[in-house]
Amino acid sequence: SMNEAIIDFSIAATHGGSILLSEVNYLNSKPLDRKRILITGGAGFVGSHLTDKLMMDGHEVTVVDNFFTGRKRNVEHWIGHENFELINHDVVEPLYIEVDQIYHLASPASPPNYMYNPIKTLKTNTIGTLNMLGLAKRVGARLLLASTSEVYGDPEVHPQNEEYWGHVNPIGPRACYDEGKRVAETMCYAYMKQEGVEVRVARIFNTFGSRMHMNDGRVVSNFILQALQGEPLTVYGSGSQTRAFQYVSDLVNGLVLLMNSNISSPVNLGNPEEHTILEFARLIKSLVVSQSQIQFLPEAQDDPQRRRPDIRKAKMMLGWEPVVPLEEGLNKTIQYFSRELEHQANNQYIPKPKAARMKKGRPRHN
Ligand code: NAD
Ligand code: UDP
Ligand code: UDP
Repeated sequence: SMNEAIIDFSIAATHGGSILLSEVNYLNSKPLDRKRILITGGAGFVGSHLTDKLMMDGHEVTVVDNFFTGRKRNVEHWIGHENFELINHDVVEPLYIEVDQIYHLASPASPPNYMYNPIKTLKTNTIGTLNMLGLAKRVGARLLLASTSEVYGDPEVHPQNEEYWGHVNPIGPRACYDEGKRVAETMCYAYMKQEGVEVRVARIFNTFGSRMHMNDGRVVSNFILQALQGEPLTVYGSGSQTRAFQYVSDLVNGLVLLMNSNISSPVNLGNPEEHTILEFARLIKSLVVSQSQIQFLPEAQDDPQRRRPDIRKAKMMLGWEPVVPLEEGLNKTIQYFSRELEHQANNQYIPKPKAARMKKGRPRHN
């Protein structure tokens, strides 16, 4: 029976550890607690960890993903479970299903991915969000938007609190994402005020962990893959720009707390421990025990220079704060990427991390 089933460790272990199906909660006896939950972008990095948590809690989870940056592999351990559904669908197209809660995560998230096809990124964040709000309105569901610290742009206020309006270049290379998320937030509050839709807005700061795509191109995955392969760690600019990184399990706990809270205004979710990018390069090099050099490349355009979340609101109103220490999260992520490298070697294909630059040529933006 399902209770006895154990997920194939050799598969599950390569991307995020093993799950004992016998540990999955059953909420049948408490029908009021059991929800029908839609996760858009649920086959991606954050979405798949959120899927695990909500499935383990005993809910019915529908993942909608167009597999642009997500992978079936990230959720394959749930395929066949009676509470799980995976739909290959693009949120730019309308979607008619019945649900109680919507975690709206569908959007490319790493700079190389969202810059690859800026028009598509805009459509996903605008039309895609409009469709999910239309769905929420029709079925009376609550919608949580995965917004971002990028709404603060290259901030002139430090650390960034939720009152800050931001400093965003509307026509720069990051605008398709930054402005897309800003208008997505605007749409949430328009639907709340005009139509009474219940909304939650999480402003997510830099997050890392297992199931990040090897081609993702964000700094943690780039540095770890470079260090593991003895290649130079590519620092864009002087490396004096700062970021603060949270481990994915902390974020997922925060998202679920926020969804089930009564806070409709935006809430920052991030780890306030701030480091320069050069410090990250050195730390990752030492944790991997790598001989790699550090290579300085030209700085990325409009790169935010300082970023650190002010999380007093989340602490006070959700009782939430990150608990996974940076080194512990990094070590887990290093383990994950070394297994991914083995997996790829067995498949004779090792993708190289991409640089955060615009691609030449014209991708289609269907
Ligand atoms: P990811 O790229 O791993 O996941 C995004 C998922 O959305 C992928 O599975 C992708 O295939 C899917 N998707 C993209 N466009 C879609 C479309 N049109 N229709 C359906 N599915 C689509 O990235 P992630 O890091 O897991 O990010 C998840 C969400 O969190 C995103 O909305 C992102 O903006 C937000 N966020 C993430 C971070 C972070 O550091 N990871 C920081 C701030 C905000
Ligand atoms: N929508 C959807 N699923 C639904 C309801 C609506 O995808 O269950 C889409 C619909 O196609 C529309 C958008 O959400 O484009 C906004 O819906 P709303 O009802 O607010 O606007 P209207 O349809 O009146 O323009
Ligand atoms: N970065 C870097 N080398 C890389 C990738 C990124 O130096 O290989 C820098 C990037 O310029 C930025 C920071 O690391 O200052 C974080 O970049 P990332 O793409 O991870 O996320 P962002 O916070 O910019 O969205």
